[in-house]
Amino acid sequence: MSWEEKILKVEPYVAGEQPKEKDIIKLNTNECPYPPAPGVEAAIRELAADADRLRLYQDMDATPLVQALAAQYGVGEEQIFVGVGSDDVLALCFLTFFSSASKEQPLLFPDITYSFYDVWANLYRIPFKTMPLKEDFSIDPVDYIPSLSGQSNAGVIFPNPNAPTGLELAPPEVERIIEGNPDSIVIVDEAYVDFGAQTALPLLKKYENLLVVQTFSKSRAMAGARVGFAIGNEKLIRYLKDVKFSFNSYTMNLPSIRIGTASAKDTAWFKETTGKIAATRERFKAELRRLGFLFPDSKSNFVFAKHPAFTGADLQARLRERKIIVRHFNKPGISDYLRITIGTDAQMDRVVEALREILA
Ligand code: PMP
Repeated sequence: MSWEEKILKVEPYVAGEQPKEKDIIKLNTNECPYPPAPGVEAAIRELAADADRLRLYQDMDATPLVQALAAQYGVGEEQIFVGVGSDDVLALCFLTFFSSASKEQPLLFPDITYSFYDVWANLYRIPFKTMPLKEDFSIDPVDYIPSLSGQSNAGVIFPNPNAPTGLELAPPEVERIIEGNPDSIVIVDEAYVDFGAQTALPLLKKYENLLVVQTFSKSRAMAGARVGFAIGNEKLIRYLKDVKFSFNSYTMNLPSIRIGTASAKDTAWFKETTGKIAATRERFKAELRRLGFLFPDSKSNFVFAKHPAFTGADLQARLRERKIIVRHFNKPGISDYLRITIGTDAQMDRVVEALREILA
């Protein structure tokens, strides 16, 4: 075997474009259009005045951040795992919880969902099976319940709200999936839960097979700081930490721990900002409807919309000409749709204006 044949070959995740131009309306990667909580800037200043602190390794447990999250979500510190963005948390979860998967008992997730899931599964050689969404893009809980579908599994993962559809699966349906899988870990990826959807966190009191994953990237305006976390049963968190500390102990850097802690403490900013984005989303939906767009009812910070008169690629290109970047997935079943992140009211007005021009 040649050296090249011995190499692990994978097809990597393709993230949304990060444009170099300045005067662009960037609505393609679901970032927050507002600056982070004021305490974040103060924490950066404090750190700048104490650069000498960087000589030392940071707290590998990110204790202040874990404590702030535990206080905010009313759970024990031992129920929280933090990572370098939720991608880091999820990647470690796949390795920790889904490694037992086989052809007969695969990992299950929806066929239209976060496109990193199949990438991690392939990276770790985790057999998986995708379950089709219903015609209206909703998840059918029955598909994930072995006693009802006849399909046993090594675990289940889905985002709620789902990406890129933005649709929320109602709490009773989420509970059905968790309750129906007492022998598997069910991960609910709540990257977009803070814009009006309901979290599965209260179910942690009832089910030890549930893990909820969230991120600071969207609702806390800190995508560039890379802070994500999981909340679950103490035992699950311990297993997750064992894997993490078998991989790389010092992942989250000191600045991110400090600014993440400052952000986690500011509940007033958090409520105000997520509320503003949800209100802009509802305004934008009404405008889209008036323009003849069709879309599932998003509870997230983006809308997944199509127009009967245009292909997704065409519409994306026409918006690009007008310096507006949105996300298009060239995949069966969704290639006519665009995923449009919710920006400020002024930005969304510009989008509506551009769409009006394109449709005229
Ligand atoms: N889950 C979902 C469903 C996402 O869309 C994203 C954003 N790409 C993530 C997780 C990861 O976000 P981050 O690593 O920035 O926390």
